[in-house]
Amino acid sequence: MDTTPTLRRRIFEMLMESQYWPPERMLEFQRSQLAQLLRHAKATVPFYKTRLDPVFKSNGEIDWDRWHEIPIVTRADLRDRRNELLATELPPGHGPTKTFHSSGSSGVPIAMEVTQTWTHANHAVAQRFYQLQGLDYREKRAILANTNSAGEVLHEEFYYKKRRHEPSRDLPDTLELVLNRNLTENRKLDLLASEHVAQLSDITNNIEVLAIANLDRKKSVKLETILCFGQGLTVEQRDLFQASFGARSLSIYSSVEGGVMGCQCGDSPHYHLNPETVLVETLTADGKASGANNEGRVIITPFFSTALPLIRYDQDDTAELQQSCACRYQLPVIANITGRQDQFMQFPEGKRSAAGLDQKLLRECLNALAFQIAQIETFRLEVRFVSANPGKAVKTGRLVAHIRERVHPKLEIDFKQVERISLNSRGKLQRIVCEIPA
Ligand SMILES: [Zn+2]
Repeated sequence: MDTTPTLRRRIFEMLMESQYWPPERMLEFQRSQLAQLLRHAKATVPFYKTRLDPVFKSNGEIDWDRWHEIPIVTRADLRDRRNELLATELPPGHGPTKTFHSSGSSGVPIAMEVTQTWTHANHAVAQRFYQLQGLDYREKRAILANTNSAGEVLHEEFYYKKRRHEPSRDLPDTLELVLNRNLTENRKLDLLASEHVAQLSDITNNIEVLAIANLDRKKSVKLETILCFGQGLTVEQRDLFQASFGARSLSIYSSVEGGVMGCQCGDSPHYHLNPETVLVETLTADGKASGANNEGRVIITPFFSTALPLIRYDQDDTAELQQSCACRYQLPVIANITGRQDQFMQFPEGKRSAAGLDQKLLRECLNALAFQIAQIETFRLEVRFVSANPGKAVKTGRLVAHIRERVHPKLEIDFKQVERISLNSRGKLQRIVCEIPA
């Protein structure tokens, strides 16, 4: 008998209760999950044979006060020592596993190995998000993709795949439209209209380009909801999606390594973490907890990653943990996540984020459908843009001053009109890229 729906439903039902747990109870739950993961990793994963020693007392108990002594796992570890990171044995009932590849914005390609249990936990977390946001399962949804479910490059314009509604088994299965991400914006919009799509899910900046193209149409496409992932969602983007599609937008903080780590709260632009499935820490440069409202490196430990345990993995993002949210849920809150949407620029003084640039000003001055700022030499940027109106003049003077003020005063800036901004290998339009060797 197929027992999988039962497990997913059980996790979901727990999540609907645990979101109200007081912090002490959540901590206790997290520690029981972590303890199982630590023991599993020490026993079956060569990479962790001695690495976790600081937290194991001689009697086998775990010393939580020494948690911070566990060394951080990096993306380079995952790339170079993957075989050592694979478990030689899975806990009962966790298999089978499958592999997810990611080239990532940082350019270090990795492959995650995830179990069936991991998949169920992440689906359950996503279902909770749907429920909390009152998203309608029955609405027709479209997602964009570069490849089909077998991982082959998508040649057709679109196809439909079956979407199962777990744990709400009383709802019938529906079909989800999968659109080829490489179609022109207008063709995507035509298909969204002709297929009567209500919910659209894609990487945030890609939706922005689509939203701008939609504004130029005689009859613009209307949508109910936009679900963004892979990049943050700015207030400007949220307003743009409302103006263009008449849609509300929500964002998910997720990664191949960590799964669904946070879901945007409907009441604020912050994200609620999913503390039942992943531990998220934020650390200062010297490895201490950065505390509430301070920017720190995001370090994750997903509890269900038993096939390839990541214990204190550096997600290569920065973020701020927040004290709490104004809404009624007890789930911890994270805000101002940066790094994943945009690469950092490298200067002799150190890394610098260019995320503070005024996107609206850039778009207006460049009269651009899409743009990208590339650091091509230490003090030289190339601003690439796709013109929305090629005949119209570009106002670069204000932009140069703005970029020098916000990023670095010594910068020389070239402007280059292009036909198309290349998406990275994960299909993301990256606003800021660093093209000089680290
Ligand atoms: Zn909230």
